Amino acid sequence: MAVVSLERTRTPTNDLDQPDIFARHESDIRLYCRRFASVFVSASSATIVDEGGREYIDFLSGAGALNYGHNPEPIKRAVIDYLSKDGILHALDMHTVAKRDFISAFYETVLRPRGLDYKLAFSGPTGTNAVELAMKFARQVTKRESIVAFTNAYHGVSLGSLALTGNRSKRAAAGICLPGVARLPYDGYLGAGFDTAALFERLLDDEGSGIDMPAAVIIETVQAEGGLNTCSAQWLRRICETAKRRGIVTIVDDIQVGCGRTGTFFSFEGTGVEPDIICLSKSLSGIGQPFSLVLIKPELDCLPPGVHNGTFRGNNLAFVGARAALDYWSDPLFQRRLEGLCCVLRERFDAIAREFPTLQTRVVGRGAVLGLTWSDATLARRVSAAAFRRGLIIETCGARDQVLKALPPLTIREDELDSGFKRLHGAIADATGNPRKANRQGGQHD
Ligand code: PMP
Repeated sequence: MAVVSLERTRTPTNDLDQPDIFARHESDIRLYCRRFASVFVSASSATIVDEGGREYIDFLSGAGALNYGHNPEPIKRAVIDYLSKDGILHALDMHTVAKRDFISAFYETVLRPRGLDYKLAFSGPTGTNAVELAMKFARQVTKRESIVAFTNAYHGVSLGSLALTGNRSKRAAAGICLPGVARLPYDGYLGAGFDTAALFERLLDDEGSGIDMPAAVIIETVQAEGGLNTCSAQWLRRICETAKRRGIVTIVDDIQVGCGRTGTFFSFEGTGVEPDIICLSKSLSGIGQPFSLVLIKPELDCLPPGVHNGTFRGNNLAFVGARAALDYWSDPLFQRRLEGLCCVLRERFDAIAREFPTLQTRVVGRGAVLGLTWSDATLARRVSAAAFRRGLIIETCGARDQVLKALPPLTIREDELDSGFKRLHGAIADATGNPRKANRQGGQHD
């Protein structure tokens, strides 16, 4: 084994000029670059350009990290301005003006108008870091160990979060057992007639169920990696009420579907649920900077200083971007446009489902995170590949990659949206061998 890896790394120095430099030097673990095999150089709004000058419409948006699009002008300006004034870029978790401005804007724009009272804990920079911290809070406050997670959940791939994540191959990569989690079926997992929230309650109250009283239950309102499964408001309420009555901490992982993705800032708005802990990341910085935040009810803020240290907790450039991004949320026009986008996306996907009835096309998801799934589970991957050939970046999700998932920027321009859907139509026709439709409906790469 050692010989093989040494051989692999011994490469001539002029390799830096070779087009396959990534394949030669980057670990085999890389993923998205295999599916979207171009070398990208610039991007604006929902349009991303490769080094050959080819333009792609981006319906991937950094897996939900670019809800405001690539290089959104007002956020970019704030960041450039901050850099040009030698603003503090790194300060561990020390107080900075950038941090103060973000905290104050977050309170005024997000928490106060919604009547929410949370403290802000800045974890390490990625989503999985936020989930790890949320678990730690819940376990310390309850002095219990187990956390209830659901089928097809995705909460990250560091060991604690991975224990919560459902995907078998990702779990297997850990190479060790992943303890401390009780797995329950998500809403709808056992069919429409089976109330899995009732099962949750029953298992907790049955002394013989074999389920230890958990520290927390962690929920995604839309399982954006697990196949765009959604839970009903009623299910969410019952899970949270059941948990609260038994002193179980409720955690909503809004890392992918928060920051407006479902049409409101938090994905659970309007359900009457107020989780004990909320995890946010991805689009929080507004401009794709790594940044995560755990919101905790003040009475759960139980960890003493220093037990969850980290060099990159609170990225000051991200604070600046995030503060500027919050301006979108005080603009009623942005919110109206977002509602409009959610309706338009639903109409467009419903129209596709009607257009390809023989494929048994189903529209899944909610708000501005919608997708398509077909009776042929391999089709999503083939459509994604065909879409890329037509200049549309759109990924798949679900344990078998059986769902085609669209995450266009919430600020996408109409012409970009039209162009993206044209390419998607064409890609479905390509992948299903319907060239007549492809020519009529699906613009080639334009
Ligand atoms: N939770 C959810 C719901 C996610 O979608 C993701 C990322 N896809 C994570 C956690 C982990 O975030 P990260 O990849 O930044 O660690």
